[in-house]
Formats: sequence, C-alpha cells, structure tokens
Amino acid sequence: MPKHKKKQYLFPRRLMEAIWFLSDADTCLEFVAALRWPDAEPVCPHCQEKGAYFLKSRRIWKCKACKKQFSVKLGTIFEDSPIGLDKWLWAIWLIANAENGVSSHELARSIGVTQKTGWLMLHRIRLAMQAESFEKLEGEVEVYETFIGGKAGYMRKDKK
Ligand SMILES: [Zn+2]
Repeated sequence: MPKHKKKQYLFPRRLMEAIWFLSDADTCLEFVAALRWPDAEPVCPHCQEKGAYFLKSRRIWKCKACKKQFSVKLGTIFEDSPIGLDKWLWAIWLIANAENGVSSHELARSIGVTQKTGWLMLHRIRLAMQAESFEKLEGEVEVYETFIGGKAGYMRKDKK
C-alpha cells in the first residue's frame, strides 16, 4: 500500500510550500490518491472493486479482482493527457490562488506548456472546480478529441 494511509494531505496554501510539495512526484501521487480514495483503499476504475496492490516502481496499481492496471489519473480529468500530475497540480494551485483569474496564456507560460494545452487544462480544471470533483465528467473526452484532433461534431452525452 502507498504511504498515504496515515497522512492527511492538505493542498499547500503558500507558494513556498507549494514549491516543496509539488517538486516531489511521490507526494503529488499520494495527494491525488488521498483525494480520490479518502479511505486509502483504491477503487479499480475497470471493475469498481477494492483491493489493489501498488506497483511502486511504476507508480500504478494492479487490481486483484480483474488483474488490470490503473494509474491515479485513470478516470479523472487528468486522464488522456501526457501532462504530468505535477503540472496539473501546479495549474490547480495557480487557478485557486489567482485573485483576478488566470488566462490560458499565463497558465501556459507559468508551467511551460503550449497555449493550447494551457487552454485545455484551464477548461477542465474550471469544470472540475464547479463540480467539486476531479472525476472525469461525461462529455469531456469528446471535448478533448474535438480540440486536439480537430474533429468536427462535438457530441455531448447527456447524463441520465
Ligand atoms: Zn478491477
């Protein structure tokens, strides 16, 4: 099991704390894991079963029930993006701490991604903040494909 079982993670408020916190990949992973699975029992996104073991070297879990592997990103807004968790958390930190809002240009410049990527991150994070959850929202995959792949026809699936 990852170490987050006994720790309480609070998102850092001060810039200096954030720099320390977000510079460690394990801390980022533990933070998101603790956020998603507050009882420290990862839930398999493939079969919804609990009981998975952590493969430390690869920073992923393997489900005991269905034998499939999953990362902490799978099933969240961070999924389907090559952007590292640290950059996602930096973006969240910047957005959460900006008094007058952050533009996609500013975000892109601050974390070192393209403006397109900055726009995508900003869009997803805002939706997640409104929903108060980083679990993937219906329709988001279509938005991403339309945006990145330039495909026509954004079809939003309505929630039932
Ligand atoms: Zn499973």
